[in-house]
Amino acid sequence: MRVSLEEVTKVFDGGVTALDGLSLDIEDGEFFALLGPSGCGKTTLLRTIAGLETASAGVLRIGDRDVTRLPPGERDVAMVFQDYALFPHMTVADNVAYPLRIKKVGRTERRAKAAQTAAGLSLAGLMERRPAQLSGGQQQRVALARAMVAEPTVFLLDEPLSNLDARLRLEARTFLKRLQHDLGVTTVFVTHDQAEALALADRIAVMDAGRIRQLGTPREIFQRPANVFVAGFIGSTPMNLLEGECVAGDGEAAESWGHQIDITGVRLPVPEEIVTELNPGDKVIVGVRPEYLVEAEEGIEGQVDIVENLGTTSLVTLTTTGPPVQVTVPEGREPEPGATMRVTPEPGRMLVYRADDGELID
Ligand code: ATP
Repeated sequence: MRVSLEEVTKVFDGGVTALDGLSLDIEDGEFFALLGPSGCGKTTLLRTIAGLETASAGVLRIGDRDVTRLPPGERDVAMVFQDYALFPHMTVADNVAYPLRIKKVGRTERRAKAAQTAAGLSLAGLMERRPAQLSGGQQQRVALARAMVAEPTVFLLDEPLSNLDARLRLEARTFLKRLQHDLGVTTVFVTHDQAEALALADRIAVMDAGRIRQLGTPREIFQRPANVFVAGFIGSTPMNLLEGECVAGDGEAAESWGHQIDITGVRLPVPEEIVTELNPGDKVIVGVRPEYLVEAEEGIEGQVDIVENLGTTSLVTLTTTGPPVQVTVPEGREPEPGATMRVTPEPGRMLVYRADDGELID
């Protein structure tokens, strides 16, 4: 079922604005991530969809129904909490069957349905155990089974993988993706882990201070962050954000490119597609991922400060006359600390942001 928010605001008692006039359409069947730093409002947004918080203003629809003022039980949504919130005194079977009991489904049907759902999540052998006798991954599956059993039209997952250790988390991530794909139920999940959002979601909303800063597919958000906030937030090694100034081109460059961007005395061509958007004197921020910087004679010069081994690549931090620059080099090609390196963006890999508002020029 489609979930749509129209200018939704949530102001808590005490005056904190957790959601600030937020509009968003989540499509039917979509696996949708709410991503952002601590305090940006993502949990509040999820809880508002669930009905655990009521919007202070705006309209929330699930399908064609206006649910803004409806209590959680009438919204046909199921939420899985970060700590799973299983009932400790109940067996797995009773935990999973609980939502059916609330719906007054008969005992026989309840049991059959719970068993079927649990089996689908590989819990069949654990039905008589209590939550304390389960591993973290098993508890998570019980929580998912309990959410699924009443066949809600929307799933809401609050940091679904954060209680699992690193190895189990990867396993559970794959499992969750397959499950969502198989069920095809609209699923909204909250995470502060950008790798998790990129790996799982069909689309991501990156939030900051109660607003959406970018909405897009993982690829769009990774390749073309819409502003420096998103650029700095996404990527396992953050994007280099280098201050520069637009200058008039000279010689041949002037004919082919018009203007150039000066970064610490090094001139980079302005990407052709945005050349008309810039004028000499404009202050910009050039964004380029460490993976997309390559060595070049005419590049930005720096001294190798730190080399970190990332497995198949190494991350090199250069000190420059400006802020440090990070560049990824292939395994076995690591420079010595103290060596000089000159680097430049690969063609087509440079993003240019306006320095005043931090928005991407495109
Ligand atoms: P985290 O990743 O740390 O959970 P979050 O992005 O989920 O953060 P929210 O929990 O939605 O953020 O909080 C958004 C803002 O609203 C924060 O400033 C928070 O302090 C505030 N807030 C959340 N719940 C309440 C509440 N019940 N009463 C008052 N303020 C609240």
